[in-house]
Parts: sequence; C-alpha cells; structure tokens
Amino acid sequence: MKITDVKTYLTMPLDGLAWLFVEVETDEGVTGVGECTDYFSNPHLVRGIESVKSLVIGEDPANIEEIWQRIFHVYSDLNPRGYVSHLISAIDIALWDIKGKVLGVPVYQLLGGPVRDHVPLYTHPAGETLEEIVESALRMKEEGFEATKTDPFSRQRSAGKGFHGADRVERLSRKAIDEGVAVMDALRDALGRDYELMVDAHARFDVASAITMANSLEHVDLVWLEEPTHVENHDSLRQIRESTNVPLCVGERHFTRWDYIPLLQQRLVDYIMPDVAWCGGISELRRIAALAEAYFIRVSPHDALGPVSIAAGFQTCMNTPNLYKQECVSDWFPTFEKIITPMFDIRDGSIYPNDRPGLGIELIHEEIERY
Ligand SMILES: [Mg+2]
Repeated sequence: MKITDVKTYLTMPLDGLAWLFVEVETDEGVTGVGECTDYFSNPHLVRGIESVKSLVIGEDPANIEEIWQRIFHVYSDLNPRGYVSHLISAIDIALWDIKGKVLGVPVYQLLGGPVRDHVPLYTHPAGETLEEIVESALRMKEEGFEATKTDPFSRQRSAGKGFHGADRVERLSRKAIDEGVAVMDALRDALGRDYELMVDAHARFDVASAITMANSLEHVDLVWLEEPTHVENHDSLRQIRESTNVPLCVGERHFTRWDYIPLLQQRLVDYIMPDVAWCGGISELRRIAALAEAYFIRVSPHDALGPVSIAAGFQTCMNTPNLYKQECVSDWFPTFEKIITPMFDIRDGSIYPNDRPGLGIELIHEEIERY
C-alpha cells in the first residue's frame, strides 16, 4: 500500500472557530483522517501540510514511526516542536486510522489493548456572569460530568481587546482576584464538596499575580491550576510552585516527549495535558504518557478542537493507565454530530468505544463542504 495524497479540509460549523482536518489517501482506497486545528494558525498549517506531502507521498502508510521520525528530523533546524509537531500530529493520527482500518481493529487495540472500558471527560461551563456559569455547570453535572474547568479571571480580558489583544503579561488586581475566587466559591457551593474543579489561567499572568491568585484559590481545593504564567521559562513555574500548595498543570504549550523531560524531572507540575493534535499525534501522546507514568504523574489530554482530535485522544486514553480525564467542550457535541459519523457514544460524562476500526469515526464530506 502506498500513500497517494494528503488533503486538508478547513471547516467552520461553529461561529468563528475553524477546524483543520487532514486526510491521507492510499492507492488501495483506504483513507485516514487526522487533525491539527490551531485557531489562529490554520492558514499556516494548511501550507505546512502541503510542504510535508513530498515526505509522505509514495510511502507505505504502515510505517508510522518512520514517517514520524522523517518529518521530525527533516525540520530539526526549525525546532520541530510546536508548528512542526502540529503537522506531524495530523499525519500520525491519520496513519493510525489507516492501520486500524486495514487490520480491522480500533487504534487502542493496536496500542496494546484497553486498560479501561470508557474514558471519563471533563468539560467547561458556558456563560459570562457568575449565575450563568453556575447554571451551566449544574446542567453538566446533571448530564453526568464529574469535573469542570473554567477561567474565572477571563472577564478581566473581556474589558480589554480580547484574549490575544490583552496585555501579554497581565497583572491581576485584588478586585479581579476576588471576583475570580467568588466564581470558584459559587461553583464549589453549587456542585458540592466532591465535584472536581480546575482553573485555567491561559498562561497570561505575571509571577506575583499568579502566586497571589494561587494562594487565594487554595481553599477551593482545585484538582489543578493550569498555566499560571507563560510556559517559556520553567524558573517562573518553579517560583510559583515554591510559593503555593495548589497543584499545577501545564502541557498544551509543550510539544513532544522532549518538552516534558524538565517538567517531570524537576517536579514542576502535578498533572500534564498534552494535546494529541499538537504534541506529535497518537504516537507521541502515548510516549509522553509513559514518560509521566514513570514519575507517577497523571495525564489529561488537552482538547478544545474538533471531533477528530477527540477521537484520537479517546483511542490513546483507552490504553493509558495514568489517565485523569480527557478534556472536551460538551456544548460542541451537537456540532460534532453534524460532521462525523457515527457520533461518539457519550454516556454519564464518558465516551464508550464503538469497536469500529481505526479512530471509529468518519467525516461527513458533504457537511464539511457546507461549512
Ligand atoms: Mg488551557
């Protein structure tokens, strides 16, 4: 079997957020689907996929590892973490899909078989006001989710120019911290002592703000505080770690196994959250999870992208012993349902396997074209 083409599909069934899917085609009619959506970089990624075509067309799609290594090393002078690892992810996911379809088994069987019978999810409450956020979280609890994550400090930025126009190293005022903590207190009161809560700081704050924020949240009993500062400098993460008892998590801005070595070796975090569509695909997510397992750290794949990335994360999580939960935006499920078939089997806040080969889903091309 030979790879004959790699196609990209940019589709926007959600208002303003486009998902980037990749299909790897073969001379035997089997195709595999991957994803490397990055909302701000999609146009660059489309061109990047064009440029890696010459490295994969004509190759046997069974050689997943060889193709992974080839793309990584050809781009080694660019630092193949980040942009290049997004490209690798999309191709890698599609190749695992092809291998599963050829052999007639789900990808998690190829990884060594399941270690669980379903994958628990955590989700995000919707809404802007405290009342809306609590109402949304309560609805998700009724749907069966047992954990939720929010950015209670994000209303800060809505007063400015939005997430990417905001001050790059934001300072939190006492008032902003108090307002954010009030959101988490309201969620704790409404959802109960056992409900699992996370805070995402989206890598926005200066160290002093991050430390004050973390200590002000300590009584909420979070599972983790995510990306309190930008991730470029591990010393600042260590400074926060030494100044608070709140567990920390990073990972959506860390790519490939090599980015995780210092995090684990220097004991900088309590959880990690690689994104399967960014970190280097199913192959790399599995390796990063194994690396974390050696340090007794749980993995919780980041996922705020389209349904192919959820499918790829799900397949890997089925085989990951040190899993916490997989992230999802459950309010997007009705949109997923429009463009993939079959829709995920979601019950009580978990995805259950459908036992179909490969990733277990197909894109609905007519709908992809429509959006
Ligand atoms: Mg995040």
